[in-house]
Amino acid sequence: MHSFKVKTKSRFDFVKITHKVKKIVEQEKIEEGVITVFVPHTTAAVTINEGADPDVVVDIKKELDKVIPLRDNYSHMEGNSAAHIKSSLIGASEQIIVENSALVLGTWQALFFCEFDGPRTRKVFVKIS
Ligand code: ZN
Repeated sequence: MHSFKVKTKSRFDFVKITHKVKKIVEQEKIEEGVITVFVPHTTAAVTINEGADPDVVVDIKKELDKVIPLRDNYSHMEGNSAAHIKSSLIGASEQIIVENSALVLGTWQALFFCEFDGPRTRKVFVKIS
């Protein structure tokens, strides 16, 4: 299993990690298979979405904040319930197919680490199978 760190810069931050996963596939000389990208955090997530237009991430943030507001009389005393809920909605893992030594992604797709309670230094696990 492989891992790498991601430094996030704000409370809500989407960080592209496609190149880091690509590097692992290249280093390990993986020709085909499936890789699982897993985030071991309860207030972060991983997702695949458009990497070309940064406004897509702006809109995702705006709409997530609308559906799950920062303050809403939550029970969890730590004060970061919105981040926990967003983490569960988006999900802690993604799978990507590797074919001909390359990640199988659509033209506009990128892999994002999703921070909902930053800034922090986070960890990402990558397992090849
Ligand atoms: Zn908490």
